[in-house]
Amino acid sequence: MQQKAAVIGAGFGGLALAIRLQQAGYKTTLFEARDKLGGRAYVYEDKGYRFDAGPTVITDPTALEELFTLCGKRMEDYVQLVPVNPFYRLQWRDGSCFDYVNDQAELEAQIAAFNPDDVKGYHRLHAYAKQTFAEGYVKLAAVPFLDFRSMLRAGPQLLKLQSWRSVYSMVASFIKDERLRQAFSFHTLLVGGSPFNTSSIYTLIHALEREWGVHFPLGGTGALVEGLGRLFTDMGGTICLNAKVQEISMEDNRATGVTLQNGEAQAFDAVASNADLMHTYGNLLRSHTVGKKQAKRLDKRRFSMSLFVIYFGVRKSYPDVAHHTVLFGPRYRELVKEIFKGSELPEDFSMYLHNPCVTDTSMAPDGCSSFYVLSPVPHLGNAPIDWEVEGPKYRDRILADLDAHYLPGMLDNLETCRIFTPQNFKDELGAHHGSAFSLEPVLWQSAWFRAHNRDDQINNLYMVGAGTHPGAGIPGVVASAKATAGLMIEDGLRRSRDAA
Ligand SMILES: Cc1cc2nc3c(=O)[nH]c(=O)nc-3n(C[C@H](O)[C@H](O)[C@H](O)COP(=O)(O)OP(=O)(O)OC[C@H]3O[C@@H](n4cnc5c(N)ncnc54)[C@H](O)[C@@H]3O)c2cc1C
Repeated sequence: MQQKAAVIGAGFGGLALAIRLQQAGYKTTLFEARDKLGGRAYVYEDKGYRFDAGPTVITDPTALEELFTLCGKRMEDYVQLVPVNPFYRLQWRDGSCFDYVNDQAELEAQIAAFNPDDVKGYHRLHAYAKQTFAEGYVKLAAVPFLDFRSMLRAGPQLLKLQSWRSVYSMVASFIKDERLRQAFSFHTLLVGGSPFNTSSIYTLIHALEREWGVHFPLGGTGALVEGLGRLFTDMGGTICLNAKVQEISMEDNRATGVTLQNGEAQAFDAVASNADLMHTYGNLLRSHTVGKKQAKRLDKRRFSMSLFVIYFGVRKSYPDVAHHTVLFGPRYRELVKEIFKGSELPEDFSMYLHNPCVTDTSMAPDGCSSFYVLSPVPHLGNAPIDWEVEGPKYRDRILADLDAHYLPGMLDNLETCRIFTPQNFKDELGAHHGSAFSLEPVLWQSAWFRAHNRDDQINNLYMVGAGTHPGAGIPGVVASAKATAGLMIEDGLRRSRDAA
């Protein structure tokens, strides 16, 4: 008999898992609490402006393409990815600017302009990053670390790569210029980690970007989400929107189905959650001892920082502002420390600015721009800020800074503006402490130490997404879906054989 699977949550991890399960023969239903697919990759539309809410830097297109080819389809029939150049523009308050590009000669010329000695250091850094990429991503990203032995097997190579050191410390051992140290270490922030505490294995992000480039889907990341949703339904999968799961039904140590907020109950052979880990164990499994125990454990873990995001539409175009710009503030190490450990909102900020209209003018009305800017901020567990009060003030400070230094005339042409705060991450996405990236990716919360793709005690309950191995970011959660799908498909075949 055909096995039935429920996937709770339609983030990139949930979508990728649902596609893999449906393709493998599971009758799969995807339940999403909100009115659209995508999770953190939600889309807002205001007055003809289209805003991608979250991910915009699309790396490793091969992992996305694999989902389509697995289903016998062509990705280009669903969504078109175009390369972005430069990958990022990095700007500092002293006026210096670095275009982070893939062209080796151009990249070296820019490094030399900061410090000629650092060109050699960069070669060594890139060679090291290629090794961490081969080991940490190509070999291990889609491996489910279910037991400690799997961790021990990876141990010797992790030791050889000095994975106990931080990304910043490793970068600093190769590069002298402080701005270049920032340029080659800030990437951990894109997956919720501090460059000063995240394992040097994460230098793999640099090699990953150099290997496959940085891309943008025409129509925005939302178009990629829509494409994945369409792929899933073309394969016969069922999507239920506005369908918040209230509880995972249990019989002893077996998940038997899900009950929705509207009271509707459905039976399934296997249940996978793409929702926040704490929400899954603490709310959806609140009546079961496993849920209570795991929620208690999770509460002691370290969660990544949150983000403050402003989506704003401007009746003006800014062709000289790069698609992705990182605007470093006056402090780096100290600011990062306050973002991860501080109990209040730091005075200064570093920002990421998204200007998709330089790649795709369809994101805004003619001659206009749909921007977003984000500033990393402490999560609510560390800094219980009243965002109802502080949000609008913080928004005004950031917009004034952008108008004065980077986007002249923006305030006079502002047509639409909305904010998303740590409180919204908590209320709208069920994120514990309002964290933007789930568990912080420190070494002792990685691989086997992260949430397992299959629960240790409930053997038909699975996890997928940012809280599981390998972690946050689209390549991470898509790899976690591969690991979880592998387990579910194997377990489903075993159940079918047993039933026959
Ligand atoms: C502002 C921002 C910018 C980012 N930029 C990048 C980037 O440029 N590149 C990159 O690779 N990564 C980026 N990331 C990280 C990346 O977006 C995330 O790590 C990834 O999308 C998380 O996917 P996920 O599978 O864990 O699911 P999520 O996106 O967390 O989705 C989980 C889904 O579960 C749903 N859900 C929760 N509870 C229930 C329930 N009870 N019933 C039903 N549904 C439920 C939620 O509504 C949500 O839709 C960014 C993140 C943010 C916030």
